[in-house]
This record gives sequence, structure tokens and C-alpha cells, in this order.
Amino acid sequence: MESDQDGVAQHEDSPLSHVTRSEVEPRRAAASRNGNRVDKPRIEAAVREILAAVGEDPDREGLQDTPARVARMYAEMFAGLHQDPRAHLRRLFTQKYDEMVLVKDIHFESMCEHHLMPFIGKAHVAYLPQGKVVGLSKIARVIEVLARRPQVQEKMTEDVADLLMNELDARGVGVILEAMHTCMSIRGVRKTDSVTTTSAMRGTFRTNASTRSELLALVYGGR
Ligand code: ZN
Repeated sequence: MESDQDGVAQHEDSPLSHVTRSEVEPRRAAASRNGNRVDKPRIEAAVREILAAVGEDPDREGLQDTPARVARMYAEMFAGLHQDPRAHLRRLFTQKYDEMVLVKDIHFESMCEHHLMPFIGKAHVAYLPQGKVVGLSKIARVIEVLARRPQVQEKMTEDVADLLMNELDARGVGVILEAMHTCMSIRGVRKTDSVTTTSAMRGTFRTNASTRSELLALVYGGR
């Protein structure tokens, strides 16, 4: 991770290294990436613009608080941009358990980066430990952080798998995401009940077919 160079106090949940920073970057952008912050006044101004652009009057009574409300909502939906999911994986426990650990049905809400509309679903996360395990709730925390970013489902699936593979020192990681995309259900093709499934397999889950089918049986067996 890059060190903090612009004089802003480093927040505990510092940004991931994929957030690149350059000398010429506007100061405000750099500052907002350093804390758990989203530039809400800027969102408010933009929402007013959108309302005006669709032919509304942003000053009419019912819309007066809308820009501020939307800004708070976006700050919440995109809070994961300013948090490091690895913070939840620092405490590992030594455990002589080498069978599959599966956390099923972790509910998540994320935001499709193509339409800025939510996609909502469940994550199923499995790993094969190698002498170290992590608290089960921490996996749900990781999903929560990674979900709260603008992205596509495919990328989120791979990010979860790569992060856990790196941080848990596991023999393998398997991630399955199932989600309903509101950008598909209320506009465009209007496929209201279609669910998109994505998976990312790492280590033994990728190389060993029986490990993979054990995971699929555990996730889908009861359905
Ligand atoms: Zn979309």
C-alpha cells in the first residue's frame, strides 16, 4: 500500500492500492479517498442538475430535500470505496481443521456501474483452510465492504475470491454470487425475475473437480 503523502490523516480503513493517486490529482479528490468520505455537496449539486435536466423543478416542496437524501444514500452505497476489506481478516485462528468451510446466503446489495442501479442477491463463500481459520462473521463483513462499490457482478465475484485467497492463505476459495439486477428488471428488457449467477474458483476449487462439486452440492443440494 502507498504511504500517505498529502498530509491527510490516514483513516483506519485506508483505501486499497487499486485506487491510484497522482501528484496532479485535485486535492479534494485525494482527501476524499483518504477518509471514509464521499463529497456529498457535489452529489447534491449533481442531483439538482439531473432533476432540472428531466424537466422537474428541484425547488418544489416535495423535491427540496431530495438532493441531500440521495447524497446520503450514495455515501452509504459507496462507502466500501473508502474501506479496506482486509481489515476484517487480520485476526486468524490456528485450527486443525482442513475440511471445507462454507458460509451460505450472505445477503448483499451492490451498485451496477453501468446504470448506477442496485443489484441485490446472495453470496456463498467457501474456503479450504490450511491451518488457519477466520471468524465466520468476518467473511460477511468482507462481502459488505466489497459490495458497496460501483461494479459489475463478475468483478465483485473475482475480487472476493482473490482477496480471500491472498489473505487466508487457504488451499482454495470458491465464491458464487446470485443476484437480481434492477437495471434489467425495471428497464431495458424488463426480465423481472431473472437471476444472474457468477462464480470464481481459486486453488483446489479450480483444480479439483470433486471439491468443486462438493461445493455445488452444499450450495444447491437442498433446492
Ligand atoms: Zn446495469
